[in-house]
Amino acid sequence: MSLKVYNSLTRKKEVFEAINPPYVGMYVCGPTVSGESHLGHARPFITFDVVYRYLMYLGYKVRYVRNITDAGHFEEEGREAEDKISKKAVLEKLEPMELVQKYTNLYHWAMARFNNLQPSIEPTATGHIVEQIEMIKKIIADGYAYEANGSVYFDVEKYNTDFSQKGLPYGMLSGRVLDDQIDTTRELDNQEEKRNKSDFALWKHAPPEHIMRWQSPWGEGFPGWHIECSAMSNKYLGDQFDIHGGGMDLQFPHHECEIAQSTVCNHKTPARYWLHNNMITINGKKMGKSYNNVIKLSELFEGTHPILTQAYHPMTVRFFILQSHYRGTLDFSNEALQASEKALRRLWEAYEWLMKQNFDAQVTASDKSLDEKTATQIREFDEFMNDDLNTAKVLANMFELSSVINSIKDKHIAVNAISGATLQMLQQQMKIYVEDIFGLTGERRADDGKLDGVLQLLIDIRKEAKQRKDFMTSDKIRNELAALGVQLKDEKDGGVSYTIQ
Ligand SMILES: [Zn+2]
Repeated sequence: MSLKVYNSLTRKKEVFEAINPPYVGMYVCGPTVSGESHLGHARPFITFDVVYRYLMYLGYKVRYVRNITDAGHFEEEGREAEDKISKKAVLEKLEPMELVQKYTNLYHWAMARFNNLQPSIEPTATGHIVEQIEMIKKIIADGYAYEANGSVYFDVEKYNTDFSQKGLPYGMLSGRVLDDQIDTTRELDNQEEKRNKSDFALWKHAPPEHIMRWQSPWGEGFPGWHIECSAMSNKYLGDQFDIHGGGMDLQFPHHECEIAQSTVCNHKTPARYWLHNNMITINGKKMGKSYNNVIKLSELFEGTHPILTQAYHPMTVRFFILQSHYRGTLDFSNEALQASEKALRRLWEAYEWLMKQNFDAQVTASDKSLDEKTATQIREFDEFMNDDLNTAKVLANMFELSSVINSIKDKHIAVNAISGATLQMLQQQMKIYVEDIFGLTGERRADDGKLDGVLQLLIDIRKEAKQRKDFMTSDKIRNELAALGVQLKDEKDGGVSYTIQ
């Protein structure tokens, strides 16, 4: 049974074969740290964290490179090319590197709360200006880029003409033919300098007022956005590596340009397998400033965006994202998140009870069909993951297994209905999947359930106070907990749930 992944480059599911097993090189486009990450960013980072964890589970030694874009990402709408970092630094009255540090710290904080593992290398664009300049020099020397007024542009038409013959046309990833691409690069600035509208900038001349600038053979300037990923992936993962990941929105132009740049230098596509996650919509709408629905991660965790009816724990968000296949669309709504919150709680309850049990491997199953069904559902974890990383199907199985666990716990099913060997396998695989591969424990496990116990005690005391009409005590518990960031919510069924901010 081998891992198959959907390769955006060939538009097919393919068996994953590492170039140099057991080593795997994986590059994922990281954030532009000109502002705080939002809900849309959470999906690629969680998706590729699980890819990273799963590859390690399969025994690969993975070098995971995820960059920080701290220069070179242009504002697309402006007349003049302006680096996003430079622009925001002026707005916030900060040194560019101060701004970069502020948002990098916030980003790392959010990644840790999501329980995402740190990448093996996290290179920055500003730390690799030399490598970018070297790569641009090579592209010019090979005849696929030209200088104009201190800026350097990639010659897309020439590239397409020459490399189409080698089966590496421009547009091979996004499926766009060159004619479509005219006017779609959205680099509205300095069009007159370009030979063709589809050409893109490798280096931009910095006007006097531009604060981020470096010396180059073409004068003082700053790098284009696409070149950083080509230069850094090449430096740390070589001429061709295994997996390149990112959101679907990066396929064009960013990844298309990366492929063209690296192909000129190395005569092959930089990565063999290109994996792209789909986008998140909010209540059925695309996320965008015009809809006022861009939810920053701190707002999500604190429940402070107007769209939100409550705060959401990072583990709830992580679980919500893994509940759908990464290539499918995912619609955010308060109802959907609340459903995920409840489902995750149920899974945790079953999981924590299961982990405390000692099963005897000698016990044979009194209910053979339940035993077999359970064993099959456990084995399917790997099968589903090997089929293009279908976390959604694994979680669906986990739910059914949680029901069985809860039934054993509540003594509706005898513990010996299922064999000791199967129950031991259940313990082992649930531990691997819930903790190691899906990373769903994170903060929750840190207190080992003690906080839950204390909160449950307070909820019980409040309930008793209400029953004897001691509303002063019941209100006090609710209000003081709220002041500590714990929101109690009375459910329709008479139960009480809570969220911790
Ligand atoms: Zn990139």
